[in-house]
Amino acid sequence: MLEKETNNRRTFLASSALGMGAAVAATMPRTVSAAAKRRGLEAGAAERDITPPVGMEITHYIRENIGVHDPLHVRAVLLRDRDGQEVALVSGDLIGAGFACCDELRERVKTETGVDEVWFSCSHTHAGRWLVSTPVPGREYTEKHAWDEGTHVPITERPEERSWNDSVHKKIVDTVRQAKEQAEPAVVKAGKAPVQVGFNRRITGADGHTYMGVNREGVIVPWTSILSAESLRTGKPIFVLFEHAAHPVTVPHTSKLISADYPGAAVAKIRKSLPGDCIAAFGQGCSGNINSFPLRSTHSDAQAAGNKLGEAVLVAMGKAQPVSTDTLRFLTIPSLLPTQPLPSEKLVAEQMIKQKEHPLRIAQLKKIVAKRASGTPPDPRRFDVHGLMLGDDFCLVSLPYEHFSHTERWVDRTAPFGTTMTFSLTNGGRGYIGSDEGLALGKNGGYEAGALPNWSAHEVMSPNLGGPAVGSEQIIRGAISALWA
Ligand SMILES: [Zn+2]
Repeated sequence: MLEKETNNRRTFLASSALGMGAAVAATMPRTVSAAAKRRGLEAGAAERDITPPVGMEITHYIRENIGVHDPLHVRAVLLRDRDGQEVALVSGDLIGAGFACCDELRERVKTETGVDEVWFSCSHTHAGRWLVSTPVPGREYTEKHAWDEGTHVPITERPEERSWNDSVHKKIVDTVRQAKEQAEPAVVKAGKAPVQVGFNRRITGADGHTYMGVNREGVIVPWTSILSAESLRTGKPIFVLFEHAAHPVTVPHTSKLISADYPGAAVAKIRKSLPGDCIAAFGQGCSGNINSFPLRSTHSDAQAAGNKLGEAVLVAMGKAQPVSTDTLRFLTIPSLLPTQPLPSEKLVAEQMIKQKEHPLRIAQLKKIVAKRASGTPPDPRRFDVHGLMLGDDFCLVSLPYEHFSHTERWVDRTAPFGTTMTFSLTNGGRGYIGSDEGLALGKNGGYEAGALPNWSAHEVMSPNLGGPAVGSEQIIRGAISALWA
């Protein structure tokens, strides 16, 4: 065990794209004259409606929307510290956004608003849309883009969607700008309260296969963490950022109405219960193995789950404690996760025959053959870990991709802070990073962690030619704990 951990740690250090020095240097505080220093933190928040027009596709499962059950939003919360450092946390009622989109968006926000850092998280509502990157002249739309953005048809060929997509990018910049302009001296508090709106969804049967169901004994994240800011001037809440881990999949896939699912209902509940124009922004936790409950039932069940979560957020706000720092510490640890070894030659040969009616699968098998011939291992996954720390009172860990609940539970157990919050689906990535235990099941690892010959496992068709390798969990933990090392 010890040896394994040591080896993995070495892999982590060797695989860090830029190494630790560069990671820390990436967030050097700006130099500010002593006169410009202020005391305490300042906070601001803003939101914009991003509901797509009638007729535009809902991404998952694909269907044309015929109207709106409840609108979609992007929301920005911003903190400024005594040295003038500014961090914006943006969340969107979107199913996801890949690296190309998030890189572009974050750069644009920084350039146009002057904030020092911005992270973009998606709620993962399945009754909304993906956000994609903006094509620039001459850019090649690669397989990687197609995978990350969930389509082989570049947005240049879909003018109506391009116009909605552009408007969302613009509105995100606008929310950050407005949050920044409105920032005022605030008391920032962190807290937590118990709540559960879903169940673990992975069940490994007697036959060894893992399938999707309701696993009432499985690991979940039975709480909501919050970070709130109250105006020193008015005493009223400016924002509450809250997190919970469960796929927003209570709205049925047969409904053709746009919805933010239970996170949207939670926001509505919170706003109804608080004075003034408090912005409530949701971040999705490590819900890769958790579904909201009941699965794909009705809009009113999503409403009920959201009410329950909203009530828990209000409890957490009531119990929250002020943070005792007036300095923001934020950094990014760039890292790479290795991909599991290519499937055996024998397995590939068998599948070439069995899958001959499936051209996309044959194309993927041919890529595996070509990769083996190249003599190089399958490409690793970019994996940037982001952390925002407020003294030792609060830490937000933000991760790309979807993660199992185990990761969030581990952060909460291990991180040396009063309150921890973990976001997945932040700043890029598409699909799942299974736990080592799930990945070690190989073909029996199910939708989120399985391997060939299970073609319904998510990562089997990815440009990496397979899921992450066993051992990724230790690399992830190494990168996360480097945030506060
Ligand atoms: Zn998902």
